[in-house]
Amino acid sequence: MGSLLEGRTILVAGVTMDTSIGFATARVAQEQGATVLISNFGRALGITRRIAKRLPAEAPVLELDVTDPAHLAALPDAIREQLGEDATLDGLVHSIAFGNPETVLGGRFVGAPWADVAQAIQVSSYSLMSLAHAVRPLLSPGAGIVGLTFDASVAWPAYDWMGVAKAGLESCARYLARDLGADGIRVNLVSAGPLKTLAAKAIPGFEEIESGWKERAPLGWDNTDAEPTARAVCALLSDFFPATTGEIVHVDGGYHAMGA
Ligand code: NAD
Repeated sequence: MGSLLEGRTILVAGVTMDTSIGFATARVAQEQGATVLISNFGRALGITRRIAKRLPAEAPVLELDVTDPAHLAALPDAIREQLGEDATLDGLVHSIAFGNPETVLGGRFVGAPWADVAQAIQVSSYSLMSLAHAVRPLLSPGAGIVGLTFDASVAWPAYDWMGVAKAGLESCARYLARDLGADGIRVNLVSAGPLKTLAAKAIPGFEEIESGWKERAPLGWDNTDAEPTARAVCALLSDFFPATTGEIVHVDGGYHAMGA
């Protein structure tokens, strides 16, 4: 237990399983004193409700499809319903991505249909802005927004249009940092190494991305342990990074810094 996030209220969007980076983040945030709400969408919501009970303290589960304008518009009231009329948010974690594995991932870059590319970009990049915009009335000065990326500065095997969506997310975070900075709101990303989550398993050829990671990363890498990533997210949410925004912190064992 610690007190890094004592007294803070944080929404973690994108929790399905206990392998989800969002789940590890919610757990670490609670261990550090935060009040946490989690969200998910569609059929996975039932799983999230069960998984919420495995947190140190059962977290309220909100329904939120980031592509549904009605869900986004209703979000502040849904949060007030859980936390009271004068609820504020001190942190928002965007842990959401989707790309159709049949069309935009797994080596089908050239020829991918726009409708599926558009969906990947809407869910995985644009939604950082739409979610931040939705909760903006509740965000307190000094609040942190943190999203999850996978290093979009290079091309990876199989990652294809999700790589393009992540490049969009990284740029989106910088523009949001520019526009929300005047309100004292910080926007940062954590660039995680490969972790065996539902989203990762859905990528045909994911093994090719992660092969050799452990060996090349100077600190090594455990692809079943989301805790280092979750801790970095919590650190960025905390007031230990008061003057940092528009930043990307790598949590990848140091892989990104090695040439070979
Ligand atoms: P995950 O599948 O556990 O989480 C992804 C979440 O996104 C799920 O809860 C899913 O329901 C949610 N989601 C998808 N479409 C949505 C929509 N329309 N509205 C609301 N929620 C939606 O997988 P994860 O690996 O924990 O992914 C979390 C984030 O971390 C993603 O942005 C992912 O790209 C990123 N990331 C993952 C890895 C990795 O190797 N697993 C590495 C770097 C970054």
